[in-house]
Amino acid sequence: MDDLLNRTRAAVWHPCTQMKQLEAAPPLAIARGEGPWLIDVVGRRYLDAISSWWVNLFGHCNPRINAAITDQLGKIEHVMLAGATHEPVVALSERLAKLTGLGHAFYGSDGASATEIALKMSAHYWRNSGQPGKNGFVSLKNGYHGETVGALSVTDIPLFKSTYAPLLRHTVQVSTPDARLAEPGESSEAYALRCAAALETHLAAHADETAAFIVEPLVQGAAGMAMYHPSYLSRVRELCTQYKVHLIADEIAVGFGRTGSMFACEQALPLAGSGIHGVRPDFICLSKGITGGYLPLSAVLTTDDIYAAFYGDETARGFLHSHSYTGNPLACRAALAVLDIFEHDQVIAANRIKSSEFTSILAEVAAHTRVRHFRHLGMIWAFDVPDAAPGFSARFHRAALAQGVFMRPIGATVYVMPPYVTSADDMRGLADAMLVCLSDPGV
Ligand SMILES: *Cc1c(COP(=O)(O)O)cnc(C)c1O
Repeated sequence: MDDLLNRTRAAVWHPCTQMKQLEAAPPLAIARGEGPWLIDVVGRRYLDAISSWWVNLFGHCNPRINAAITDQLGKIEHVMLAGATHEPVVALSERLAKLTGLGHAFYGSDGASATEIALKMSAHYWRNSGQPGKNGFVSLKNGYHGETVGALSVTDIPLFKSTYAPLLRHTVQVSTPDARLAEPGESSEAYALRCAAALETHLAAHADETAAFIVEPLVQGAAGMAMYHPSYLSRVRELCTQYKVHLIADEIAVGFGRTGSMFACEQALPLAGSGIHGVRPDFICLSKGITGGYLPLSAVLTTDDIYAAFYGDETARGFLHSHSYTGNPLACRAALAVLDIFEHDQVIAANRIKSSEFTSILAEVAAHTRVRHFRHLGMIWAFDVPDAAPGFSARFHRAALAQGVFMRPIGATVYVMPPYVTSADDMRGLADAMLVCLSDPGV
């Protein structure tokens, strides 16, 4: 094991990591996985309580997803998607269209590239529609949409962004409806609508320069699982329509059942009660859970109207964006297997029961004296630790590892985002582990 850790330090530049810290806190050396468990090279088991950065849905080494990828390997591993097509990408696009109510699917390889695609498509749409001045973007305070240069421009996490500020395009951030920020006595819905009014003030003055408003529906993940009232989405849908600005739903983290519905946007009812199921964004960005955590894949789906604005005889009117691995057949087969599992096992309904059961299991954690703002939506639980001293996240992480749990708090926010195959027993073990960590005077 020491050999592997030395080699990783010598050869691998780890993401989101100050490499010097690996001297004191070496990474886990993982040999294999089994359901929600990670198993290291000496056989120790760790519960993957954050689904390997929110991507894993149905466990590691899932036999059904393994079988789909293995079958596809014997057919075609990859072919470029310009000038060629294949069954997995067509079938996946058809199924995603049915699920989202949006038309053509454009593919990238990760979440940040999906953000880039949506931003470029939106601005290009306005250019094709004779309004090239509509090329600005609005996003939420504390929002996260990825870390490539374009995506980072609409991200608002200072730790990731400040260093690169000179490289980024100017964008506008409006108040976050994060329910923790409501005034005393103000409901989370009233606060959300107050924040939507702030967006309206901005759009009323700047709609002519604005292409799109991008938002993480219901939960701002990287901000520390900040949750907000669904009326915010309903109201901003109205505002975006009224001011002719695209609404981009970044469902990269919350899509595929995380918040209790297949997509988070489904939970926002139109304010006027038009009978539509949820609000429909102009673009939806999907990634993370899309392949069950197996292979890098992202997709952007949009309306038929937006698609039509690119269609024509002139080449440059088309969306000339590409990535080498666009629509990779293995990744698409993994995604199709994931959708099969959702349908066959009725995962959304099953998770509803699991979600309330897990919330009861976490009751003692919620009641712990160090815990504030315990919150929960679907298969996400989070709480804040107001007395956390600097370095809390790393200390909690190490204390949890000693209890056989793999977690990475975000600052003073501890969160649980387990694979859907996690059992009630696993969850009880996780609750006990968190109680030990919270009561450890060294954490
Ligand atoms: C993770 C994430 C991204 C970026 O995805 P990557 O695959 O890490 O590039 C974008 N938006 C949201 C909401 C995310 O959680």
